[in-house]
Amino acid sequence: MANIQAIRGMHDILPEQTPLWQYAEKIIREVLNSYGYSEIRLPAVEKTELFKRSIGEVTDIVEKEMYTFDDRNGDSLTLRPEGTAGCLRACLEHGLLHNQVHRLWYYGAMYRHERPQKGRYRQFYQLGVETYGMAGADIDAELLLLTDRLWKRLGIRDKVRLQLNSLGTIAERLVYRDALVAYFEQHLDTLDEDSLRRLNTNPLRILDTKNPAMADVVKNAPELMAYLGNDSKQHFQTILDTLTGLGVNYEINTRLVRGLDYYSKTVFEWVTDELGSQGTICAGGRYDGLIEQLGGKANSAIGFAMGMERLLLLLETLDLKIENTVDVYLIRVGQQAEKVGLRLAEQLRTDIPTLRVQVDCAGGSIKSQFKKADKSGAKFALILGEDEVLRGDVGLKSLRDEQLGQQTLALTDVIGFLKKI
Ligand code: ATP
Ligand code: MG
Repeated sequence: MANIQAIRGMHDILPEQTPLWQYAEKIIREVLNSYGYSEIRLPAVEKTELFKRSIGEVTDIVEKEMYTFDDRNGDSLTLRPEGTAGCLRACLEHGLLHNQVHRLWYYGAMYRHERPQKGRYRQFYQLGVETYGMAGADIDAELLLLTDRLWKRLGIRDKVRLQLNSLGTIAERLVYRDALVAYFEQHLDTLDEDSLRRLNTNPLRILDTKNPAMADVVKNAPELMAYLGNDSKQHFQTILDTLTGLGVNYEINTRLVRGLDYYSKTVFEWVTDELGSQGTICAGGRYDGLIEQLGGKANSAIGFAMGMERLLLLLETLDLKIENTVDVYLIRVGQQAEKVGLRLAEQLRTDIPTLRVQVDCAGGSIKSQFKKADKSGAKFALILGEDEVLRGDVGLKSLRDEQLGQQTLALTDVIGFLKKI
C-alpha cells in the first residue's frame, strides 16, 4: 500500500527546522512586547460570510483562494485565509472597541488555495498585528518602526526595502476610480483578460498586474496621489517626516494598491529581491472603514501581516548556527546504572531547571552511546557504568572542549560542577 502523503502546498516543519522558527518567534515576541502589544488567539475557522463581507467579493482571496465547506449543520465555513477579519470579529463580539485603544497581535496558520511554489503555500504561517482606535499618523509610523526594528534584530535589514503609498479615503478613491476606468477604457486593446474583468469589479487591481505587455499602459495611468484631499496628504506626509526623522529609509510606490478592498490611506509592503516573485514578506495598511462594514461603530484601524515562511527563507540565507542541542548526554551501562542514572538526571533537572539533559534510553555499548552523545551536540557526556555505581561516582567528559578532558566526580559533586558551567 502506498504511504499517505501530506496535502499539496501544506508542508511539515521538521525538527531540524524548528530551532530557526523558534528563534524568529522569540525575537518577534520580544519586539512586540517592547512596544506594548498584547496577544489574541483566534479560531482557524470562521463563517464564510465574515470573509466575504470584509475582504470583498471581488478579490483573489474570495474569488478563488478560500477553503470553504459546509459543516454538518449545513453552515458555510471557511478556513481563515487571513487574520484581520477574525480579529475584528472577536473584538466586536467581546465589546473591546468601545472608546478603547488596542494594540494586538496573533500568530498562526492561514489557508489559501494557491499554486504552491517557493514562498507560496496553501497552509502558511502569519504574524498579524492589528491596532484599533488610533486615527493619527503616529500609529502608522509606529508599525513601520516596529517592523524596521524587527528586521534589525533578525539581521536582515539590508535585505528588505519599505514601500509606501496612500490610497486616500474611500470617497477620494471613488473619484480616482472613475478617472482610472475612463483612462483604461481608452486602452481596451492592451488590457488582458484579467484586467478587462477587473475594469468593472476592482480597477485599481489592474495597477497590480505583472503582465509585461501592460507595463506601459499602467505606467501612464493617472496617479491616485493627485486625487488625495488635504487631510490624506497631511497624514501621509507626517508618516514620511517621522520615518526620515528617525532614519528609516523608504520608497514611495504609487502603484502599490494591495489586493484587499478594505484599505484606506496608508498602505505599505516590506519587499526583498532575494525570493523571486514572492518578494513581499510583510504587508499592511489602514482600514478605517472595515469596522463599520462589519457592523461596529466607525473607528480607526491599522495593521499588517507578515509571512513567516518567506521570513524564514530570508533567515536561511544568513547561515545562522541555531540548533536545538542538549547540555548533558547521560550514558548508562548496566541495570543498576540505568536506575541510578535516571534518578541523577531527574535530580539535575530539579536543581538546574534550565539545564537540558538527555538520557540515552536506547541502550547499547558504551562506544555506541558515546557516538550518539557526540552526535547530539551535547557539551558533556556523563558516564555511569557498573564500577561508577559501586563507587558512587560518575564519569564526566567534555565533548566540545579538549582542555576540560575527562574526570571522575562524586555523584554529589556533579550538580555543583554543572551549576558553575
Ligand atoms: P501575494 O501578493 O504574495 O499573493 P498577498 O497580498 O496575497 O501576497 P497578504 O494577504 O497581504 O498577501 O498577506 C501578508 C503576507 O503573508 C504576504 O506578504 C506574504 O508574506 C504572506 N503570504 C500571503 N500568501 C501566502 C502564501 N500563499 N504562502 C506563503 N505566504 C503567504
Ligand atoms: Mg495573494
